[in-house]
Amino acid sequence: MKNIVIFGAPGAGKGTQSDKIIEKYGLGHISTGDVLRNEIKNGTELGKTAKGFIDNGQLIPDELMVNILASVYDSFGTDHKGVIFDGFPRTTPQAEALKKMLSDRGHKIAAMIELDVPEEELMARLINRGKESGRSDDNEETIKKRLNVYHTQTSPLIDWYEKEGVHYHVKGIGTLEEIFGRVSDVIDNLAD
Ligand code: ATP
Repeated sequence: MKNIVIFGAPGAGKGTQSDKIIEKYGLGHISTGDVLRNEIKNGTELGKTAKGFIDNGQLIPDELMVNILASVYDSFGTDHKGVIFDGFPRTTPQAEALKKMLSDRGHKIAAMIELDVPEEELMARLINRGKESGRSDDNEETIKKRLNVYHTQTSPLIDWYEKEGVHYHVKGIGTLEEIFGRVSDVIDNLAD
């Protein structure tokens, strides 16, 4: 079983690389951003709470995120090939909760793959994506807040996973195929 965290700043390409990994390796996909956008679309209580945070470039409180995580993970059953965690964890308490949730089930994280992209490139990609996707959080002001949240609350997880012995650094610029080649090299070399 290969449970993998795909990690990086907003606009690093986590979603795009996740889709390619799923297709090649037959893994499941948990995108917490997609889960939240779906809740918003369906007008649920969680969605209403989430919208305020997302449109303001802030993170949803850990407790809410951790509560939904286990049920989404369990929806893949007990003997799957592995799941890609995309957009989770984003804080140290989330990483600790993920570790506990997996270890309660006899599972673990095999790799945390960090997609490393320079700040100017992230900004350019997100502004461009905002034009096409119409995502309410892809405007210049909110993007700046999200990048700031990434640097203060999320990037400490690089050291956290380094200490766990599962951090892999991948250069996140170049063509999609070049980046995916680097990601595949990491996954192909993981022990079963
Ligand atoms: P990428 O561009 O790499 O796909 P992203 O950071 O632009 O990623 P999402 O991962 O879809 O976009 O997240 C969008 C928003 O949803 C975040 O800014 C945050 O408000 C909220 N969110 C998503 N995951 C979490 C989480 N694990 N904890 C708290 N908030 C989250």
